[in-house]
Amino acid sequence: MAKRSAAKAVRLTCPKCMAAFTVVAFLSGSVDKEAYYQQRAGEHDCTAHAKMLSSGNGEGIKNPLKASKAAAKAR
Ligand SMILES: [Zn+2]
Repeated sequence: MAKRSAAKAVRLTCPKCMAAFTVVAFLSGSVDKEAYYQQRAGEHDCTAHAKMLSSGNGEGIKNPLKASKAAAKAR
């Protein structure tokens, strides 16, 4: 059974800030994938991404769920 469109997670690289990020693409048969991916890559929120990076301060993003679990264990 062939679906006409499928949701697919694709890795894109932002042409402006060079960040790699994942988007969920909805592709149907007649869509030009390359053009679609380029368009989605151009929609990257560079400001939000830069904020996210700077808030990590080089340490990377901590998993808040893991951190709270560790805190609960320590008690
Ligand atoms: Zn960007």
